[in-house]
Amino acid sequence: MNDISQPAVGIDLGTTNSAIAWIDEIGAPSTLRNAEGDFITPSVILLEGENVVIGKEAVKAKGTDFDLVAECAKRELGALLFSKQLGERQFPPEVLQAWILQKLHQDAQSQLGEFTRAVVTVPAYFDETRRKSTMDAGYIAGLDILDIINEPTAAAIAYGFQLGRRDPEEAKRERTIMVYDLGGGTFDVSIMKLCGNSYTALATDGDVQLGGRDWDQRLMDFATEAFMRQYGLDPRDEPNTAGRLWRECEDAKHTLSQRMSTQIACDYQGHAMRVEVTRDQYEDMTRDLLERTSFTTTQTLAAADLTWADIESVLLVGGSSRMPAVVTMLEELTGHKLDTSISPDEAVAHGAAIHAGALLDEASERGH
Ligand code: AMP
Repeated sequence: MNDISQPAVGIDLGTTNSAIAWIDEIGAPSTLRNAEGDFITPSVILLEGENVVIGKEAVKAKGTDFDLVAECAKRELGALLFSKQLGERQFPPEVLQAWILQKLHQDAQSQLGEFTRAVVTVPAYFDETRRKSTMDAGYIAGLDILDIINEPTAAAIAYGFQLGRRDPEEAKRERTIMVYDLGGGTFDVSIMKLCGNSYTALATDGDVQLGGRDWDQRLMDFATEAFMRQYGLDPRDEPNTAGRLWRECEDAKHTLSQRMSTQIACDYQGHAMRVEVTRDQYEDMTRDLLERTSFTTTQTLAAADLTWADIESVLLVGGSSRMPAVVTMLEELTGHKLDTSISPDEAVAHGAAIHAGALLDEASERGH
């Protein structure tokens, strides 16, 4: 049972979205809602004078104050300064990351009371510099980072925890799983060996420049071309219009995960247009992106010297793994049905919280 005076907290500090979870009163990982009432907080920053706004409202500001909005600071960790100036100022990427952590921390504290300790996750491929920058971001945000763990390990921990709840004996058995993580800005695939409480990475690979944003970009190109054919104007020429169109395209992408067609609204210089797009068209225009993930997945399996018969389950992590084309591709590749028992948006934060709980338990046992 968790001691609420010292909650076990885990943070998934993502490129596009972040989440914070804790081990609740009944000992299960649970995602905390932010002040806006959502489980997921976009890792987007709006700097309005001295006022820092993080999350959904910062995303909205892309359509009105594009120059004041920063995204994907995680990609630039390790650099001296974030590439985009906000207004007149430029900040180190870890300061931007610290603002995101601060928002998650504050919103969590309003529910859990004061705490400072947390586990934060990073991609498996992060080098020491970027791990250290993540620690620094935590420190700037007033957090005491208990540990930094790899995202696929966290997802595997969450999966192992769930197995253990369902069948404690069965969870002790050694098994090999794959974590396919397609987020907003990056793609990672890892093969992990699980046995009781031990988690070992057998192989890991990925593409740091491939994620949901590339799928958005294809819809952006599609909508823009249609607009240009009709009016001879490029809506991307004006940053706020481009920001709004980007949001429309991302929305359309989400709709296409549920429906067979949708429309993208675009208005620029007094001209308005609704561009129709079907799921088939969308899948055609993004097929090469999906194939890149399938290629890396196959390579990673080979690097671990394994075949699909050795993989017991494939965990889907990252918001973009919700695209039906991803599921179809992986089912064809693996030859079996996918495991959808863990939530793609929450698994990493849950695993981090479980790990925080284990560390706090160890520390309190040592203290007694
Ligand atoms: P993450 O970084 O894991 O939070 O993933 C964010 C990415 O997932 C963004 O590019 C989102 O547009 C994408 N995403 C979230 N939900 C969906 C969905 N239902 N269909 C397609 N993409 C989605």
